[in-house]
Amino acid sequence: MSKTASKLEILTYPNPVLREVSKPVTEFKPELKKFAEDMLETMYEAKGIGLAAVQVGNPIQLLVIDTRSKDEVGQRYKYDEMTELEQSIEQPLILINPEIVKGYGKTTFDEGCLSVPSFFDTVERFEKIDVKAKDIHGKEFKFTVDGLLAICVQHEMDHLSGTLFIDHLSFLKSNKIKNQIKKNGYPDPKKSDDDDEDNSARSRKSKSKDPVKA
Ligand SMILES: [Zn+2]
Repeated sequence: MSKTASKLEILTYPNPVLREVSKPVTEFKPELKKFAEDMLETMYEAKGIGLAAVQVGNPIQLLVIDTRSKDEVGQRYKYDEMTELEQSIEQPLILINPEIVKGYGKTTFDEGCLSVPSFFDTVERFEKIDVKAKDIHGKEFKFTVDGLLAICVQHEMDHLSGTLFIDHLSFLKSNKIKNQIKKNGYPDPKKSDDDDEDNSARSRKSKSKDPVKA
């Protein structure tokens, strides 16, 4: 990653930009690479595992993802927690104009979102997906993945159509969260977010205690 990468502002619900449908990327200029690097920097800083360009106010079909969990000192990635398919994919992953070609099976996961901070709930997704996307140079590539990476790709792709994970919950649950945010805003991260001392936020084994944000 470039040393000049800089942090971007992550928009939160109910910012209307998050409801915009992202446009396909047609030009693969050096600025796009710089923007993707800034997004990764912003995602790591926020301790998220995925980020869509629309979440930083740019509704283009660009996603950055890194689902690898770190060890206790936050240094080395723990590959033993990943599925074989996840291990086969080089991360961080940058996906441009992504498409889910095919989905297989169903799974559920406690999802969180950098644009809906401090709220987590169970969402149903495909267990395994075939994905087609372009890389940062505009070259098409395909992969098949399951595990947390598959869930993250589906969560991020929702952002491209203006959908948030809270839209997948039951009508009652979804409205409760939306009304709570609109009325009271978000809880103070300093009081509610204990992830700061603990880098295990990405661990799927303790997902109910340390859910992941994307
Ligand atoms: Zn999200």
